[in-house]
Amino acid sequence: MQSPKCQESSVKIDFNAVDFHLHTMETPLPGDIPIYDLIRECRRRGLKYICIVDHWRETTDPSIFAEERELLDNIDLGLRVYLSAEVEILDEQASSPVNIEDHKDIIRKLDFLSAATHLGEFLPSIRRRELPGSKDKFIEYVHEKFMNIIKNNLFKMILHPTDYGLGDCVRFGLCKSYSMDNVPEEYMDEFVKNVVHYDKVVQINEPTALNPPRGYEIFIRKMVERRVKLTVGSDTHYLEDCILGRHRKWPGGTRSAVRVIKRCGGDRSLLWIPNH
Ligand SMILES: [Zn+2]
Ligand SMILES: [Zn+2]
Repeated sequence: MQSPKCQESSVKIDFNAVDFHLHTMETPLPGDIPIYDLIRECRRRGLKYICIVDHWRETTDPSIFAEERELLDNIDLGLRVYLSAEVEILDEQASSPVNIEDHKDIIRKLDFLSAATHLGEFLPSIRRRELPGSKDKFIEYVHEKFMNIIKNNLFKMILHPTDYGLGDCVRFGLCKSYSMDNVPEEYMDEFVKNVVHYDKVVQINEPTALNPPRGYEIFIRKMVERRVKLTVGSDTHYLEDCILGRHRKWPGGTRSAVRVIKRCGGDRSLLWIPNH
């Protein structure tokens, strides 16, 4: 990690020229990472700044990130590529598979680390945490987890926090509606205040913006008003989406995410581009 507090650039670039949530594949294999194919696809689609965030889970061999850095350093890419990782956050304390000591050489090769706001700890196969007994307890847990992610100085970019865990809340049968009504307004305010205070970047994900919870714009508008640094991402997994055609995702496929930012009064002055 070259500098956790990257400076912003004054380059006049708009949200539709960036995609800051791209994967080469779900589980990159050392020696066989399709990073050049992904980058070629990004270039073909006219993107100017991209960020690759392959998953860093407990089962991940982190040497893939060193390999990716080497591949990126080898050729002229034709666009600006940032290298990060979507780090799985394991619990409400923001524990993660990243160990600052053991992984310091890998961390150094990344431009910054990004935190995934998934809630896998409740899955029956993982069960690191018991599912809270009520909707309010569940949302309180999500909020505590988000606060600890924001305060953790390992992470610069917070990936797809904008549904506040509501998709899972509904899936687990705790929330009756997919609506921001389930999230106390003071939680959203505290989230926004801390994101600004700790100088973090919020990534608006296309899949959430395409299928937003009711009242989604209330949260986005709060971020725009407090001038939170924002970025957008398609969450494309190149191998699975572009080659195997598994989902309808593609690099730069961020139309709904860009639209919601604009509808809420945001413009390109909020777009975060790290400057090294
Ligand atoms: Zn994710
Ligand atoms: Zn992802």
